[in-house]
Amino acid sequence: MDLHVLTQELYKEMGISPKVSAFGEKIEETLKERFADIDKMAELNQLKVIHAMQEARVNSECFHYASGYGYDDFGRDTLEQVYANVFHTEDALVRPQITCGTHALSLTLSANLRPGDELISIAGKPYDTLEEVIGIRKSPGSLAEYGITYKQVELNPDGSFDYPAIEQAISSKTKLITIQRSKGYQTRPSFSVEQIGEAIAFVKKVKPEVICMVDNCYGEFVEAREPSDVGADLVVGSLIKNPGGGLAPIGGYVAGRRDLIAQCAYRLTSPGLGKEVGASLGVMQAFYQGLFLAPTVVAGALKGAVFAANIYERLGYPVVPGGAEDRHDIIQAVELGSAEAVIAFCKGIQAAAPVDSYVSPEPWAMPGYDSDVIMAAGAFVQGSSIELSADGPIKEPYAVYFQGGLTWEHAKFGILMSLQKLWEAGITKEL
Ligand SMILES: *Cc1c(COP(=O)(O)O)cnc(C)c1O
Repeated sequence: MDLHVLTQELYKEMGISPKVSAFGEKIEETLKERFADIDKMAELNQLKVIHAMQEARVNSECFHYASGYGYDDFGRDTLEQVYANVFHTEDALVRPQITCGTHALSLTLSANLRPGDELISIAGKPYDTLEEVIGIRKSPGSLAEYGITYKQVELNPDGSFDYPAIEQAISSKTKLITIQRSKGYQTRPSFSVEQIGEAIAFVKKVKPEVICMVDNCYGEFVEAREPSDVGADLVVGSLIKNPGGGLAPIGGYVAGRRDLIAQCAYRLTSPGLGKEVGASLGVMQAFYQGLFLAPTVVAGALKGAVFAANIYERLGYPVVPGGAEDRHDIIQAVELGSAEAVIAFCKGIQAAAPVDSYVSPEPWAMPGYDSDVIMAAGAFVQGSSIELSADGPIKEPYAVYFQGGLTWEHAKFGILMSLQKLWEAGITKEL
């Protein structure tokens, strides 16, 4: 029997009406060139990862279980060399003891700043959870409590760096500047690696000894280069996002200058111990294999983001980035304009999941947010946002932030299901 017919029958059986899947096909047909470019990027980054593993002489011993103190944990030490090779840095710290992206960022900041030092975010407001790390929102244990001061340079209205303001903000106290690559839950554009490189060059010209850190969350393997290729002293991210490839069950990484990574290690474990301790507890195969898969997983997520942008743009909704724009991370924002639409979209993403597909997400008052939020995720790893997931704060402009998908095929199914739910709710009428 014809493969296309079989596939359409199964879509129908799984809840996608022929009208919705035909609309999806029409859009997909227009994206062949985009998808080919994404595949080319995956090819480059796949080679980069394999090269990094070969150069570090990865072997089967790397996957052995290590417990206790973890002295001479060969798999862990080799993996850190692999990350350093991928990011072209002197060293890296890649650990299951780094519990999430926020922890990796908090660790890096607290390890490299001392009382009296000043931190500047030159990319406007940082990610929500960092407000408590820095002490923008009063919080026990924040950098502010240790006498580390903070300044923020707002971006220009078009989302570009405000260079005169950056120059003015940098002072004799400025020790470290941070740049967030991805827009996170804001509507500004994400930065390209090239833009980040320009900003770092500018900062170094004003004050050469300033440490330049990049929050690399959601950006890994989207482009041919990483921020560490254009001057960043430290790049920081989460293993339950891009570089974990969906297989890492926990973890974070910091890659960068050897002396700065050493500081991170002394802070993570203990002064005097640093990188020498911290057993890998059996997660090494998942870390290696996830990194190996990451370039193609990211490609699948990018195709999903481009597909969603084009579907919803065609239906008249504002999307960031636009359907034809270049990508610098895997997040897609869609302004749906009403609470009902945000809820319907998220219910669609949930209904398309391999795990927990039968539960129905509802908005709730999540800690740390100033409005109700609805979240859709049916993930193998709890909270993993390299897996297909969507979040929508129930407030103006009623945008959903959509990301991930371990495979393009799943991302496509999820987006079609979101459209199906909008259509069933009578919100989207013309297809
Ligand atoms: C996800 C994210 C973080 C925080 O990572 P968690 O793993 O959720 O703690 C920080 N910055 C950006 C840009 C992110 O996307």
